[in-house]
Amino acid sequence: MTATIPVREGLFRETDDGPTLLAGECTECGRIAFPVSERCLECGEDRIKICELGSKGELLCATVVHMGNGRLNPATASATC
Ligand SMILES: [Zn+2]
Repeated sequence: MTATIPVREGLFRETDDGPTLLAGECTECGRIAFPVSERCLECGEDRIKICELGSKGELLCATVVHMGNGRLNPATASATC
């Protein structure tokens, strides 16, 4: 069995349908941001509601990790575009 190790806590949660990304939805203007931030980037509101983005989407950008962080082996952390 393969364990899922998040690069950073709070980026996604496991559901019965698999992992889903977590975003923050502003309670004032409704802007959705990923990853979750403490304040809305649009209006500055600090009341942010956590919402699930789902398990499917379109990858617009990727980053290649060249260094481990103690828990993540860089040899298994590379990505290609
Ligand atoms: Zn807002």
